[in-house]
Amino acid sequence: MSAITNHMPTEELQRLDAAHHMHPFTANGPLSKKGARVITRAKGVYLTDSDGEQILDAMSGLWCVNIGYGRDELAEAAARQMKELPYYNTFFQTTHVPAIALADKLAQLAPGDLNHVFFAAGGSEANDTNIRMVRTYWAAKGKPDKKVIISRKNAYHGSSMGSASLGGMGYMHAQGGLPIPDIHHINQPNWWAEGGDMTPEEFGLARARELEEAILEMGEDRVAAFIGEPIQGAGGVIIPPETYWPEIQRICDKYEILLIADEVITGFGRTGNLFGSQTFGIRPDIMTIAKGLSSGYAPIGGSIVSDEVAAVMAEVEFSHGYTYSGHPVAAAVALENLRLIEEEKMVEHVRDTAAPLVREHWLKLTEHEMVGEAVITGLMASIALTPDKSTRAKFASDPGTVGSICRDICFSNNVIMRHIGDRLVIAPPITITPPDIEEMFTRINRSLEQAASAIKDQGLM
Ligand code: PMP
Repeated sequence: MSAITNHMPTEELQRLDAAHHMHPFTANGPLSKKGARVITRAKGVYLTDSDGEQILDAMSGLWCVNIGYGRDELAEAAARQMKELPYYNTFFQTTHVPAIALADKLAQLAPGDLNHVFFAAGGSEANDTNIRMVRTYWAAKGKPDKKVIISRKNAYHGSSMGSASLGGMGYMHAQGGLPIPDIHHINQPNWWAEGGDMTPEEFGLARARELEEAILEMGEDRVAAFIGEPIQGAGGVIIPPETYWPEIQRICDKYEILLIADEVITGFGRTGNLFGSQTFGIRPDIMTIAKGLSSGYAPIGGSIVSDEVAAVMAEVEFSHGYTYSGHPVAAAVALENLRLIEEEKMVEHVRDTAAPLVREHWLKLTEHEMVGEAVITGLMASIALTPDKSTRAKFASDPGTVGSICRDICFSNNVIMRHIGDRLVIAPPITITPPDIEEMFTRINRSLEQAASAIKDQGLM
């Protein structure tokens, strides 16, 4: 059999893909009939496919390629580390330099007293660590009943049994017997969809106070932690009203509930600060990290933990860990990624250059007739599609029908936006330059105009 390479005809690659590869979050039957688009290489913010098309990736892959594609420095860091020490673990009284150096660097970069890192291979694994860690922490403090974790509906925290249970996606809970016990979901701070007649500020407070109500109902002696994404990503880039996080923080402090900020998307420059917690004034006890930690060049994630949590955990033999916790190659890649973010002042670039320009264009999208709200923080943005802006109405079609039409038209115009229900979202590489931003909006605006005609033609609006 001949080798399968980039040089094969697209149809042949698609046929083989359909025959043997099961895609995540996909109905593989319909995809195999249509054929997946084959991505062959990438540079900067552009992907190239097997037909030679240049696609502008306004999603940084899965919100992870923060520094952009094709940085040789990361490839070289991986090769150097692979030659020197490709693998060793840190389970049984051993350690290695990449894990030491990355933990040390993260302790310097993370805010407050978040000075200790437990590594994982991605965000789901890190959130599973968090579930077991907060329950073990309270048990070690003589409070074994303090094990309920409060999360939000429409949150995304990963796809493993534990992390998907933390998540609030009903369609995920419906498959495979989730959620695990002692996870409780309160309502999300999604003003556009659920705010009714309240102002965003009133609504933010009301939704935060659901945390207090839940704690009082269950008893603070049963609640271990609250987990939230500073901005819900996979839930549709839901940016909470300004009143939300300060109230959540107040409640966690008052009732001694550990606060876990899931920074898997919001970390490493995405919001115009190194961490979303800094953007929203959150003081977490534990921070989940992944994605932008290595800009997706190697799979790595982890939990950054406060001095207090680490001190309690230090007295326990925590029966938890992954073969690839602190993987030396992934850690070396992450360190190099962090070096580039700092040396090339990428966070400053987001704050001072890229985000203001994207914001200007993004807010103008409401001039399109079917775009209701347009919201943005740093380089994370969403628009809500609606048949009637004044009432924030939903389309009569199944949720996501209109969103997916728009997404497909964007894709055919060679710009990747993601649809989440009837919201469209972007999270481009944090290195995106002004000319690439202009090109991105040329393609987005063209796509939205074509989408509006298609939606009218199909009688959906
Ligand atoms: N938390 C958040 C906020 C995420 O967005 C994601 C992934 N989209 C995860 C956790 C899970 O991370 P992973 O896919 O690396 O397991």
